[in-house]
Amino acid sequence: MIRSILCLLLFAVPVFSQSVQNTLQDVLRLEHNTREALNHYSFKRDVLLETLDRDSQVTGQYVRYSEFVFDDSGRRIERVIDKHSTMKELKITDQDIQDLADAQMLGLDDAGKYELSMADGLVEVRPRQTPDPRKMSERYFNGRLWLDEAGRITRVRGVVEPAGRQRFPWFDTYRANVGAAYPFPVKTEADDVLHFPHKDIRYRINVKYYDYRRFRTDVTIKEIEPLSEKVSFNTKLSTGRPEMFFTSWPLGSTVQVYSEPGFTPEQRKAIARALNAWNVGAVRFEYRGEGQGQVTVRRQNVLALDKKHFAYFQSYISDGQLTAGEIFIDHRAVRPEAIESIVVHEIGHSLGLSDCKDCKSVMRPFPSVNKSNGFVAPTELDLSVLRQRSEIRDQKSEIRNR
Ligand SMILES: [Zn+2]
Repeated sequence: MIRSILCLLLFAVPVFSQSVQNTLQDVLRLEHNTREALNHYSFKRDVLLETLDRDSQVTGQYVRYSEFVFDDSGRRIERVIDKHSTMKELKITDQDIQDLADAQMLGLDDAGKYELSMADGLVEVRPRQTPDPRKMSERYFNGRLWLDEAGRITRVRGVVEPAGRQRFPWFDTYRANVGAAYPFPVKTEADDVLHFPHKDIRYRINVKYYDYRRFRTDVTIKEIEPLSEKVSFNTKLSTGRPEMFFTSWPLGSTVQVYSEPGFTPEQRKAIARALNAWNVGAVRFEYRGEGQGQVTVRRQNVLALDKKHFAYFQSYISDGQLTAGEIFIDHRAVRPEAIESIVVHEIGHSLGLSDCKDCKSVMRPFPSVNKSNGFVAPTELDLSVLRQRSEIRDQKSEIRNR
């Protein structure tokens, strides 16, 4: 058994130890995922634009409070809640409004428009073609990106082009953990002097993005599929042996798991044990305590939603791989041994395993809401099914090498 597990790890290494050349691709892939993830969130944005005189006194303000939601086709819609202006020296243009929602918020839009290079761990971004001042609505970001250890963008600094007869400031946008699978923008700041032909104007931007809320929808948005309760309850039930049925995590990844507030210390220990029980293969699980993150263990009235289930795993899929999820547990499952067993079972689903009747497996059904199914760790049968996945991977890479 131990030898097979080592093999799993060995197979995973060539796939995930990326060379430096691949790093830019990783950044773009993660950024693509971030944008897709953002499509599942509504958020609020407060914009404050100001002009200042030489003594740093504010001479004019433009205020715009909005809510961003998405329509059925995944298009972002701005709902302006309040807007007013006392600004006299500057006219806020369509491009200013466009930049606020696009380049100043996220930096890159279509990666194909840019020449990217890595320098000192930062990504330099230059437009591939010179932005054309006759086409002011075709906006280009020009600047650099800061990354975290995982290659995710944490800060964007640059300017938006072309300028034409307008002037645009250098800005900084910072991203942070807001409880989503990726860091999202939390603020944009600029304090720059705009040079016009006959005068200089000091211009300040303060934007906050906040109140990110994942909205539940039955609409399938391209590439990430939030499974509705109905779909995720529609599980596959095998007999004798669980099957690889669901989309799983990338091999070699470490999945960070949180539990929302409300679980007792004993219950949290049970969650940590359950995750640790799976740390024998090519995907690792790390319990990060209370909070929200890549995977969040939550309470819900699951039994009320569907009489047959009291826990389920909701998956978030991007590019054919699982990127985030939630484990929902019915409020009535309170005994630590029940919770331990439930979390082991739901993590089994996240690794691709189907439910299994009459199996010596963690994927067995549960006798009742507050009882264990008898397993608190994957069995040899579970691991043997998972091992097939890495064999499939290996055959693929052999074909590629030939
Ligand atoms: Zn199940």
